[in-house]
Amino acid sequence: MNDFSKLKKIIEGHNSFLLSTHVNPDADALGSELAFYLILKKLGKEVKVVNHSATPYNLEFLDKEKVIEKFDESVHGKIFDDVEVFVLLDLNQANRIVKMEKGFRSFKGVKVCIDHHLDPENVFDNYFGSADYSATSEIIYDFIEQTKIVEIDYEIALQLYAGIMTDTGSFRFDRTNPRIHRIMAELLEKGVNPTTVYDKIYDQFKFARLKLLGEALSSIEIDSTNRIAVMCIKKEALARTGATEADIDGFVNYCLTIQNVQIGILFYELKDGLKISFRSKGEIPVNKLAVEFGGGGHTNASGAKIYNTTIEEYKEKVIKAAQQYL
Ligand code: 5GP
Ligand code: MN
Repeated sequence: MNDFSKLKKIIEGHNSFLLSTHVNPDADALGSELAFYLILKKLGKEVKVVNHSATPYNLEFLDKEKVIEKFDESVHGKIFDDVEVFVLLDLNQANRIVKMEKGFRSFKGVKVCIDHHLDPENVFDNYFGSADYSATSEIIYDFIEQTKIVEIDYEIALQLYAGIMTDTGSFRFDRTNPRIHRIMAELLEKGVNPTTVYDKIYDQFKFARLKLLGEALSSIEIDSTNRIAVMCIKKEALARTGATEADIDGFVNYCLTIQNVQIGILFYELKDGLKISFRSKGEIPVNKLAVEFGGGGHTNASGAKIYNTTIEEYKEKVIKAAQQYL
């Protein structure tokens, strides 16, 4: 059980906070971050929210007050000296904040991590959460629930709902239990509209994303075991369709919609290297598979980033490694 009273004490004992979340943030990253921001603001704290990545366009509605800043060394270089507490949400390895990693590692104040991934890096003075949580937003809910630090109003409820809805795969992944639905019921009672939230996040994409999805689906191959599906997206495909890297979020899940397939792998080329996303069904620990390639994540969803390389160089190697987990 988490001792959230310690987190409450950290908040009460300090005045200035810097919040950040992982590269290419999803709705749980932003929802937990913005919910935490709203808690701190309600308590009259000074809060900065600075992320490595820009907010994806379909999640901009969460940042209604436009408080999130995109990290820029020339603007934010001194920020690490100016705040007392640095809170990282929805990540547990400092390299997930990319350009802000250096500032975090040399940060002299209180380092807090609130997260639900496996195997946290041992660099946080204060770690709250566990891999038993469906979402970081669920941890924030528990924190509020246990400490009664603030009232959950509509704005906070919206963030938590968006984070939990998306990280549970719209209430179908493993961690979806009666308790999650009870929390959701409470958030709906605060006025969250489930139809609108789902529509904004999943049904308002640019046409270019669908064109790219079409190409990505056409690229899918099945390995010799018939249990691994592999999707590839080349750099040229982004240029051709006009889609962006953020549009790729969620594509890999289509690999698991194929009969018998238990592992889905997506390779996509970034400007500076290769991103691999892994997904699995059941007990197959793709987080361990990702670790083999310098990444990490959850049992059923993980990823890795490899600099200065191509799909060709890694594809066969990764499929071979994946076959060992079947
Ligand atoms: P996605 O495939 O959606 O980018 O990431 C799925 C999960 O894998 C994320 O929630 C995160 O936990 C993990 N993940 C993705 N990329 C990386 C990476 O480069 N390093 C680490 N440690 N984890 C990653
Ligand atoms: Mn999450």
